[in-house]
Amino acid sequence: IPIRAAAPGETPATCPYCGVGCGVLIEHDGTRITGVRGDPAHPANFGRLCTKGSTLHLTAGHDTRLLYPEYRARRGEARTRMGWDAAIDVAAQRFADVIAEHGPDAVAFYISGQLLTEDYYVFNKAMKGLIGSNNVDTNSRLCMSSAVAAYKATLGADAPPCCYEDFDHADTILIAGANPAWAHPVAFRRIEEARARRPGMKIVVVDPRRTDTAAMADLHLAILPGTDVWLFDAMLHVLLRDGLADEAWIAAHTEGFEALRAHVHGVSPAVAAAVCGVAAEDIVTAARWWGEAPAALSLWCQGLNQSTHGTHNGAALIALSLATGKIGRPGCGPFSLTGQPNAMGGREVGGLANLLPAHRDLANPAHRAEVARLWGVDSVPSEPGLTAVELFRAAREGRVKAIWIACTNPAQSMPEQALVHEALAACDFVVLQEAFAGTETAAFADLVLPAAAWGEKEGTVTNSERRISRVRAAVPAPGEARADWRIVCDFARALAPRIGKPQAAAMFAYASAQAIFAEHVASTAGRDLDITGLDYSLLEGEGPQQWPFPAGAAVDGADAAARARLYADGRFATPNGRARFVVPARALTAEKTGVRYPLALTSGRLRDQWHGMSRSGKVARLYGHADEARIELHPQELARRGLVDGDLVKVSSRHGELVLRVAAASALRHGMAFVGMHWGRRALNSAGINLLFGGACDPLSKQPELKHAAVRIEPVELP
Ligand code: SF4
Repeated sequence: IPIRAAAPGETPATCPYCGVGCGVLIEHDGTRITGVRGDPAHPANFGRLCTKGSTLHLTAGHDTRLLYPEYRARRGEARTRMGWDAAIDVAAQRFADVIAEHGPDAVAFYISGQLLTEDYYVFNKAMKGLIGSNNVDTNSRLCMSSAVAAYKATLGADAPPCCYEDFDHADTILIAGANPAWAHPVAFRRIEEARARRPGMKIVVVDPRRTDTAAMADLHLAILPGTDVWLFDAMLHVLLRDGLADEAWIAAHTEGFEALRAHVHGVSPAVAAAVCGVAAEDIVTAARWWGEAPAALSLWCQGLNQSTHGTHNGAALIALSLATGKIGRPGCGPFSLTGQPNAMGGREVGGLANLLPAHRDLANPAHRAEVARLWGVDSVPSEPGLTAVELFRAAREGRVKAIWIACTNPAQSMPEQALVHEALAACDFVVLQEAFAGTETAAFADLVLPAAAWGEKEGTVTNSERRISRVRAAVPAPGEARADWRIVCDFARALAPRIGKPQAAAMFAYASAQAIFAEHVASTAGRDLDITGLDYSLLEGEGPQQWPFPAGAAVDGADAAARARLYADGRFATPNGRARFVVPARALTAEKTGVRYPLALTSGRLRDQWHGMSRSGKVARLYGHADEARIELHPQELARRGLVDGDLVKVSSRHGELVLRVAAASALRHGMAFVGMHWGRRALNSAGINLLFGGACDPLSKQPELKHAAVRIEPVELP
């Protein structure tokens, strides 16, 4: 199988950081990764990499890796080295003991959007097909579940309808709750280039902060936190008032518009301006630029998703595309940017507590029966599993007794961190399947299983534009580390006879990641994401492909053009083919600022760090952009408190407190504060910034409000 555009000694893979999904060529000598370059043949980046991607080889050393399994039989003891066979036996027996005594819903998997699609598939199958519970959820719940719920509510399927090429065709781009300049840099560069080529193009950014993305916008709407729905409703009000809605298209292709029309009738720009804290005329300008543009594209990410009304934030934004018929053609549509490298793949295989493989719904009896047939099991349980926040609450209450955590660090990354720590301490048995040593979660683990990392694993990932890429191993994993899918399958085969299902061991007799992918492919037949035309050979020979890719589809020509954008024919994935308008709740943030906690704290990605820094934190040069955790406030907010840049302050919320250095940032509104999301125990006097955030969730998506906490700051008196 030819390796595209790779020289001898180079192995193609994708970047394991953000959802842009850039192609990377790994330079190596067969045992050691020595360098990286962008893959010129990969359509996500055409050879480009950002600061994080271009330093990936510097993260590949073994110094901070977990090299062999470790176990402790009793809490308080140190873990000691154990062989793989014994480790798998211990894991299986202790899970079996909990299941026997408390039932299958007393165990849970908490996994990660960093896993490959094949890893995700077997985790999901092990919980829902073998154990008989739906308690498998993922850190993708913290970033993308609101977008999933919004797509399904409006367009009928969890399918981002756009592609990166749309940046080149859009006349107006509305970027809401996203800072691609830092979080999706290669995609952002493409937007910048498109604007340079097309001087009339307008960019509108909706963000409480003046981020680097907002700084390049033609119009920055610095709305107050949580007021997004009001803004989008007012924009729709203007579109209707000024005759910029496409009434004929609405009538032909949608339903539910009259209710939304009535809903936005009273939300004039003046009304919304008072709520959002922006000028009414700027709302009018944004609406007109959207309505008058031949092609208009919206991009969104965590700023909308991480909200107690994240689903409605997304639905209200999608309504702008539907009301103007700007979807399904070049430069048009609502386009959620994925945070993690394979949150999309996890969604595709149904690796969340409320989903089933190939976009099937757990709530649908026919879908459960289909999956049971595919897996060769009697049934798939109907009771929804515990979502991320619910899962740790259940563990603290003693309802979940054993938890298996893979490739994520909830002791740092979850909100209501104190509760999460109590939950992990309360569990009878905690397994951590991880590549890197010393994460905050490792302190709670009874059994640690060393996993292979980027550059050592075979599989696939899907990026934000529905493009599936092959990921390849360039070097062997260090020590005794193993591929994630293999660890799960070994565990499942050992567990099956212990829970009275010896014949189910055969469900996990995969010889390779490729065999798992083939089963995943087969499960998609006839579904909206049908990829029955794909296999590893095609992905390796022809390069990454967007879905759907049914059997017989061509990699180029009209088939490729049809895959680039969904819904070009105006038929949507709903039962009657019509897109649905949703009347959004006009809630604000769940947590209110007030006298005790007067500042609205928001968090976000820094340009050069990734998640909890277990990978990017190894690279010295990535600290050049931000060398320590700081809480940013407007300079006048600092002056008012008698603080100067660099002072130490105690930051308190209703959920916890920690000490940080302050930084002056005129990018922030008065009354707001910002902190990078990445900093954990190594940089702080606590396990992580999310200590300050509560666990209030969107009732539809179950995504927590990680973009907002009410806090106060007080000077720290140094001895
Ligand atoms: Fe990696 Fe994202 Fe940077 Fe591309 S833009 S190199 S995927 S971090």
